[in-house]
Amino acid sequence: MDYKTISEKLEVKTYVANILIAVNPYYDIPKLYGPEAIKSYRGKSLGTLPPHVFAIADKAYRDMKVLKMSQSIIVSGESGAGKTENTKFVLRYLTTTYGSGQDIDERIVEANPLLEAFGNAKTVRNNNSSRFGKFVEIHFNDKNAVVGGFVSHYLLEKSRICMQSNDERNYHIFYRLCAGASEELKKTLHLDSPDSFRYLNRGCTRYFASKDSDKQIMQSRKSPEHLKLGALKDPLVDDQGDFNRMCVAMKKIGLDDTEKLDLFRVVSGVLHLGNIDFEETGSSSGGCILKNHSDQTLEYCADLLGLDKDDLRVSLTTRVMLTTAGGAKGTVIKVPLKVEQANNARDALAKAVYSRLFDHVVKRVNQCFPFQASSNFIGVLDIAGFEYFEHNSFEQFCINYCNEKLQQFFNERILKEEQELYQKEGLGVNEVHYVDNQDCIDLVESKTVGILDILDEENRLPQPSDQHFALAIHSKHKEHFRLTVPRKSKLAVHRNLRDDEGFIIRHFAGAVCYETTRFVEKNNDALHMSLESLVCESKDKFVRQLFENSSTIKDSKQKAGKLSFISVGNKFKTQLNLLLDKLRSTGSSFIRCVKPNLKMVSHQFEGALILSQLQCAGMVSVLDLMQGGFPSRAPFHELYNMYKAYMPEKLTRLNPRLFCKALFKALGLNDNDFKFGLTKVFFRPGKFAEFDQIMKSDP
Ligand code: ADP
Ligand code: MG
Repeated sequence: MDYKTISEKLEVKTYVANILIAVNPYYDIPKLYGPEAIKSYRGKSLGTLPPHVFAIADKAYRDMKVLKMSQSIIVSGESGAGKTENTKFVLRYLTTTYGSGQDIDERIVEANPLLEAFGNAKTVRNNNSSRFGKFVEIHFNDKNAVVGGFVSHYLLEKSRICMQSNDERNYHIFYRLCAGASEELKKTLHLDSPDSFRYLNRGCTRYFASKDSDKQIMQSRKSPEHLKLGALKDPLVDDQGDFNRMCVAMKKIGLDDTEKLDLFRVVSGVLHLGNIDFEETGSSSGGCILKNHSDQTLEYCADLLGLDKDDLRVSLTTRVMLTTAGGAKGTVIKVPLKVEQANNARDALAKAVYSRLFDHVVKRVNQCFPFQASSNFIGVLDIAGFEYFEHNSFEQFCINYCNEKLQQFFNERILKEEQELYQKEGLGVNEVHYVDNQDCIDLVESKTVGILDILDEENRLPQPSDQHFALAIHSKHKEHFRLTVPRKSKLAVHRNLRDDEGFIIRHFAGAVCYETTRFVEKNNDALHMSLESLVCESKDKFVRQLFENSSTIKDSKQKAGKLSFISVGNKFKTQLNLLLDKLRSTGSSFIRCVKPNLKMVSHQFEGALILSQLQCAGMVSVLDLMQGGFPSRAPFHELYNMYKAYMPEKLTRLNPRLFCKALFKALGLNDNDFKFGLTKVFFRPGKFAEFDQIMKSDP
């Protein structure tokens, strides 16, 4: 069978137990997701209609209603597998089907374009890749109608704000603003083509690049066609159209023109900030100054962010320190920065401003669908799946740690609970073995000896270093089953790394070698003192508010000498543990998204690629369990109540268990299709739906 027939047969989706496997079709199938399809899944048990995200959404809703318990739907898969699209389908389904008919329903759906504008970017794996994780809760009242929503976000990728890999872009909003702003707005914000901004044209790496491929790109950028389009006009992305669509969405969720301008002003401020260049003073003090041409840029940036331009200049080129020399303890001095340090200060400021802006966008979105009385919620988790690339850094480390936790939750829910239930009900089904990954989670998050705490300890040293950090990990976990040095890698690229340059973790989905360069820097969310106080005291109310509840420097003298450090890793750990507590308190369903090929095209099905994704998703162990298992079950008394009306008087006098036995015998069901437990009858996959069908059609 070719992919087309498979996909038509499966309607690109299939279940394993109550887990939906959704293959990204890479083409629009309006019929599959339209209003008719939405209607048809309403109130239907899983399995009565072809597998679909709508069926999972409806099951979550019915479980919430019947069990009076919040539900979560965990959507996972690698980049480009379709997590975000499926999440949107779930949200649309629930708000359309069970909404209150007020504009809150639409707002929950329309918040997405805004989040995506600021948090999504084109990558080599996905033209609209989410660079943050999110958990979207739809809240319901005691009548089970939608009353509001709430979005939590995790780990926005910050490195992208200042630098992108080949063929990747910065966040959509930057290009959209450059392409879609009116002439007047462009003038106000001093905007130009994306090519004129370092943060969008990958300036430094490009212009000084020596590799042939880079030269080629530079050549092609000089072609007339290219100049006409603007170097960063991507044929696959319609920035202007997207800008207009984004503005419509902003209006729908209730953002007024002032708020819109606030957002655009800060986005432009970040772009101009990126264009500030430094050069050595040449004087004996060894500091740096702004290059001549940067004066105008400095003025634009200061203007847009409400800063004093001379303060900004000083804060970018010097650093405030507390001197302890000569007994004059507590004197604040300004230490001149080298060019490289000034570049880092500039980039750190840009990242801080943009990530605060993103926090604000999420907060603002949440104000669009406030709710007072929520009885229960259905939460949808859309977060990056397990990642391993040729080079893996702090970002992959965090995301894979997250996936270990989610995998444990999945194991707990699907495998452990299933097994325990079979045992409790005395079904006599063989035990399924799975590898518990608690040791791997401990390796990362344990107090003091866990990698995150070792990293924090490094960050707090007077002179932290990535090498010292790597060595500390290896010395603390010499014989750990999950941890080893890069030279033990199966891959040559990693074998060349020294012990102080990386570490390998054996994850449930495979071994990953992390390169520790910049771990220390990436783990720190704090700006250096002078920059922090600069933005906190901005004349622009909006900018000031972005930094309002940061560790505001009240007594700058006291703080000046201390090393500022806010741990990214441990903040994520806290957030993640809160999320998992939440997930554990809900009923759960899983959607495993699968990417059919790397080319992002329809009708191509690469077997090996898919198999490895299913393995990463822990599906193989689930299949083992399910093959000998009984995924659908119904308590005897429920069946009794449901069907007694159809049965002869004599039968209804039996107790529920005997009643069910008699019923099944009368229907001539195959003994292999079900098993009787102590309180429930268990069905083989798909057999409950068949049985239900017989009962309904032939009472
Ligand atoms: P992920 O969030 O897993 O990285 P996305 O949800 O952004 O992936 O999907 C990547 C792209 O794949 C989308 O932009 C879209 O073009 C396509 N796609 C995903 N799911 C579907 C679907 N159900 N139908 C049609 N196209 C889809
Ligand atoms: Mg996504």
